[in-house]
Amino acid sequence: MIRDHFRVLRVDLADGRGEVITLEGRDTVAGGSGLAALLFEKYGHVDKVWSDPEQPLIFAIGPLTGYFPLMSKTVCGFKSPYHDQYAESHAGGRSALALRFADYDALVFTGKAERLSVVALGSRRLEMRDVHYMRGLDLQTSGKMFRRMFGGAGHRSILRIGPAGEMGSAMACINADTYRHFGRLGGGAVMGAKNLKGIVIQGDASFDLPEGKTYAKLFQDVYKKLTDTDMMDKYHNLGTPVNVNVLNGIKALPCRNLQQTHDEAMEGISGEKFAEEALMRNTACSGCPIGCIHVGFMREKFMEPNQYLYRQVSYDHEPIFAAGSMLGVTNAFKVLALIDVTEKMGLDVMSAGVALAWATEALEKGHISEKETLAPLRFGEAETYKEALVHLGRGENDFYRLLGQGALKAAKHYGGEDFACVLGQEMGGYATGEVFFISQALGFRHSHLDAGGYSYDQKHQDKDVEKAVSFLVQDEQERVLLTSMVSCLFAREVFKREVLAECLGSLGYQTLAGELEAVSNRVQKLRWKIRVATGFDPSAVEVPKRFTEVTTWKGKVDGDYLKALKSDYARRIMEMGRGERDERR
Ligand code: SF4
Repeated sequence: MIRDHFRVLRVDLADGRGEVITLEGRDTVAGGSGLAALLFEKYGHVDKVWSDPEQPLIFAIGPLTGYFPLMSKTVCGFKSPYHDQYAESHAGGRSALALRFADYDALVFTGKAERLSVVALGSRRLEMRDVHYMRGLDLQTSGKMFRRMFGGAGHRSILRIGPAGEMGSAMACINADTYRHFGRLGGGAVMGAKNLKGIVIQGDASFDLPEGKTYAKLFQDVYKKLTDTDMMDKYHNLGTPVNVNVLNGIKALPCRNLQQTHDEAMEGISGEKFAEEALMRNTACSGCPIGCIHVGFMREKFMEPNQYLYRQVSYDHEPIFAAGSMLGVTNAFKVLALIDVTEKMGLDVMSAGVALAWATEALEKGHISEKETLAPLRFGEAETYKEALVHLGRGENDFYRLLGQGALKAAKHYGGEDFACVLGQEMGGYATGEVFFISQALGFRHSHLDAGGYSYDQKHQDKDVEKAVSFLVQDEQERVLLTSMVSCLFAREVFKREVLAECLGSLGYQTLAGELEAVSNRVQKLRWKIRVATGFDPSAVEVPKRFTEVTTWKGKVDGDYLKALKSDYARRIMEMGRGERDERR
């Protein structure tokens, strides 16, 4: 399976037929983010709307997938319903390993199935089944059904959507193996538009590992570095929810629609509290010894007097922020109950929580009424948020359908733009300051993971625009190399360029190993080129007023610094988009 080209399965959903394509480019774009962009260039249409059946839905893995630990992510590329531009979303679970074992570097779905369908594929099989009777089914029920319909537990990855994806919500996620998600920017709606309820990838083949001592020794070294450092402790122990107390302590935790950045009551949803009271177990993506996925339990009374059922719900910092601090919900079990409903609907929890936080303040301020919200939304009232999440997931009325396209879109219609906490999309759980706000607002995925702006804010008090923007550009380039491999970004301290080069060399990718500088540069520019071609204008991105009203450990956010950062980062992004064009002339 080590080869100097890409092996891609293209499936036309209009007739259920597939073809295996060989594509050059291993040494120029590596895989993952680079491969997804390459495939969008080949099959995507910059001038057609995201829901056009001809638009591709792409899943790509990297050259190190299956060979080294934590190379466990899959990159999903698509034209996003959120902004009708090229986008990426990443997830782990078993998806990457299943693809490796099925012997594909990428999948490309084009066309639209006539009826709601599921596609099952493996190294020597491709099958499309009509599942029209599953329309409207929640994610948990459809997961159970797919598991019964298709064998191969353990080697199989199930990607699926819920009602939100079927109704075209720009906040619809693609769930990967229950506990992981291609969460942001509406990949679930792209599956919905293709009448694709699920994708089952059977990792049903095997592959040989390189012979000789070099690979085996390197594997051991990498494994040791990953498990001996404090990374293991940080991510396995409390996991990312450790951030709740840390951020709250430095006035950087968005609370109640970012009206506050600190609140003592958030102790009730800290990582420590979750671990003490709600944690059941840790689990991991395939091929990962860290196991950062924390699974808690929530119970629900289904009959009097004392009949309960319980469910396992995974949690991380971001869902806790979105369903907890942002909504003023400060009880760990109530937060898990909200995450559980969001999961059932197939909504991205970050987008949904932040959108409902805006709706709550808009209701308080009279921009909307209960006629729109259908539930008396109030910060801290978890029960009403449960109802609202179902309305949002099912697109119950015009208000929820518009809110599902983004809080800023709803705010433009109903009023309340100043306090829509949107930075390109609904904000991530860090109110660290100006550099993070601009990093997310203009970043390629509008994700806190595009670049370490949140960490830069915490380490720098100076306001050097050039230094900050150069950091964002350089850090994005480092990360794009990792997402082209495709590594979990939690391993970024271990998978430095020299280590990546050694890993690639041990598998026989000598040319690629010597080209990492050029590859990261090229993929960064290629992604921006496609993004700009599909309509992105970074200078037109709005940063709502609420972000200038925030107080962090550094004091009040500096509006002038924010503006200067935005203008300089926008210029650099456009240069990168153009750079790719120049380079190819
Ligand atoms: S550290 Fe967590 S997210 Fe990353 S690969 Fe391991 S289990 Fe998955």
